[in-house]
Amino acid sequence: MQDLMQDWPLRVSAIIDHAARYHGGRTIVSRSVEGPVTRTDWAATRVRALKVAQALRRLGVRPGDVVGCMAWNTARHLEAWYGVPGAGAVLHSLNPRLACEQLAYIAGHAGDRWLICDPDLAPIVARMVPDLPDLRGVIVLTDRPHMPEELPGALCFEDLLAAEDGDTGWHRGDERDACGICYTSGTTGHPKGVVYSHRSNVLHAMAMIQPDMLGLSSRDVVMPVVPLFHANGWSTGFSAPMAGAGMVLPGRLMDPASLYGMLEQGVTVTAAVPTIWLPLLTYLREQGLDLPHLDRVVIGGSSCPRAVIEAFQNDYGVRVLHAWGMTETSPLGTFASFKPEVAAMPDEERIGVQLKVGHPPFTVDLCIRDDAGADLPWDGETQGRLQIRGPGVLRRYLKQEADAIDAEGWFDTGDAATIDALGYVRITDRFKDVIKSGGEWISSIDMENAAVSHPDVAEAAAVGVPHPKWDERPVLCIVPKPGRSPGADEIIDRLRPHFAKWQLPDEVLFVTEIPHTATGKISKLTLRRQLEEAGYRLPDLR
Ligand code: ADP
Repeated sequence: MQDLMQDWPLRVSAIIDHAARYHGGRTIVSRSVEGPVTRTDWAATRVRALKVAQALRRLGVRPGDVVGCMAWNTARHLEAWYGVPGAGAVLHSLNPRLACEQLAYIAGHAGDRWLICDPDLAPIVARMVPDLPDLRGVIVLTDRPHMPEELPGALCFEDLLAAEDGDTGWHRGDERDACGICYTSGTTGHPKGVVYSHRSNVLHAMAMIQPDMLGLSSRDVVMPVVPLFHANGWSTGFSAPMAGAGMVLPGRLMDPASLYGMLEQGVTVTAAVPTIWLPLLTYLREQGLDLPHLDRVVIGGSSCPRAVIEAFQNDYGVRVLHAWGMTETSPLGTFASFKPEVAAMPDEERIGVQLKVGHPPFTVDLCIRDDAGADLPWDGETQGRLQIRGPGVLRRYLKQEADAIDAEGWFDTGDAATIDALGYVRITDRFKDVIKSGGEWISSIDMENAAVSHPDVAEAAAVGVPHPKWDERPVLCIVPKPGRSPGADEIIDRLRPHFAKWQLPDEVLFVTEIPHTATGKISKLTLRRQLEEAGYRLPDLR
C-alpha cells in the first residue's frame, strides 16, 4: 500500500523558513570583517538570503551551478549560506588557510562558476582567478566603501542586494539535489570533494539537535568558532536555525580576548577544535574572568585533552561535549553525552568516559573491523578500523569513478578505534599516524594526551620513526609553555602509568613549534618529513 502522507522535500530552505516564521526575532550577533559588531535576526536573514538568490539568478546562476565561498563566520556569510542553495546552486566552502595553489585546484576541480569572498581575502582570490578559466565573476561580501583594490572587476554584495526586493521564492528542487561541497582538509593526503545533499544536511541537523547530541533549543545562543568552511561548519549553520536558537558569529578574530568578547554576547553553546580552547582558558585564568552564560562547549576535530575538559567543567561549570566526525560524515558522527550508566559514575571516572568520543545518534551506524573486514567485539579493548554508514555519510567523492563504501554501505574512516559495551567509541589513532612497533600499535593520541597533562607542556606530537628492527619507534616532540623547560625524564614519568615500557618514546625532542594543517590539526605528515629532512636518527642508531 502506498502511504497517504505529504511529500515535503527536506531542503535547507525549509530550515530558514522555519526559523524566520517561528523564531524570527531571535538575534544574530556578528563581528563584521570591516570591524563593527552588527545585529540581525532570522526574519531579516531570510529576506536577505532571498535577495541573494534573486541576485544570483539575475547574474545567470542556474540550478546546479557551483558557487565557491571563502568567508569567515559572519552574518553575510550566513545569508550566502542560504541564498546560494536557495537559488538551486551548490555552495562550495573554501578554506582560506589552504595554500593558494591548493585552493585553485579545489575551485577548479569542483567547477566553481562564481566566487564569493570576504574583502580581506581578496588577495588570495586575486591569485586564484587566473587559474580558473571557467570563472564568471567574483562577489565581495561588503559594501561599496570597503571594496578591495585587488579585485577591480568584482561585484559588491551590498550593491547586488540593494537592487533586489526579496519578492521571490526558493528554488523548488529535489531533496537529493547537491546543496554544498566541502573538501577534506588534506591532513592525510590530497583534498577530496564531499557533496552534501539538501536531504543529508537536513537529516544531519535534525540528528544534531537531539538532547544527547548538541541538545539545541530556542533558549540557546550558538557561537560556531569552527569556521563554516570547515567540515560543513559542524552543522551549526543548519542546526541553530532549525532549533530556533540565536547565533553569535565571531568573524575572523580568533584571539582569546576577541572570542571572550563574543562569548559575552550571551553564548550558551560554542564549538571548536581543541587548539582554540587552550589559549582561551589561559586568558580567562590570567584575567580572572568567568563564563556566566556558557553552558556547553563542543570540542572535536582532534582529540580533546583531559586538562581542557577538567578546566571547563571544574573551574567554569561548562559541560564539555567531546565529539567526533569528519568532512565525509556531514560531519558529526558521535557525541560523548551521558547515558544513565555514565551519569551515575563518580566525577573522575566520568571524565575518563568524556575522553572517548561517545555514541552516535539515530541515522549514524558504526562498527569496528579488522584488516580482513571481520567485525570486532565491543569490549572497549579491541582496536579496529572504525566504519560508518548512514544518510549523512558520503557514498562517493566528487568526480571519482568508484564508490568509497563497501556493498553494505560501510565507509572506512581511516581511524583506529575501540567501542565499549555501552557503545562509546574511543579514537586511538589515525591509521596513517599509528605507531607500529614490533607488530604492536602504540597510540599517538594517548601519548600526546599524557604528555600535555604535564603542567609545563603546551603541545605534544608523537610520531613513528623508521627502525630496522622494530619497524617504527615512537619519538615525542614537545613544545614547552613560555618560560618553562621541563626535562625529558619528567615527561617520560608522566607517560609511565599509561604505557608499557616498550611503548615509551625512544626520545623526547623539545621544539619551538609543531606544524599544523589548515584546519589547526597537528600535521604528522609534515612533522615526519621535517624530522627526515633534518637527518634525525633514533638514539640507538646514532
Ligand atoms: P581531515 O581528515 O583532512 O583532517 P576532517 O576535518 O574531516 O579533515 O578530519 C576528520 C578526522 O579528524 C577524523 O577522521 C579523525 O581522525 C579526526 N578527529 C575528529 N574528531 C576527533 C576526536 N574527537 N578525537 C580524535 N580525532 C578526531
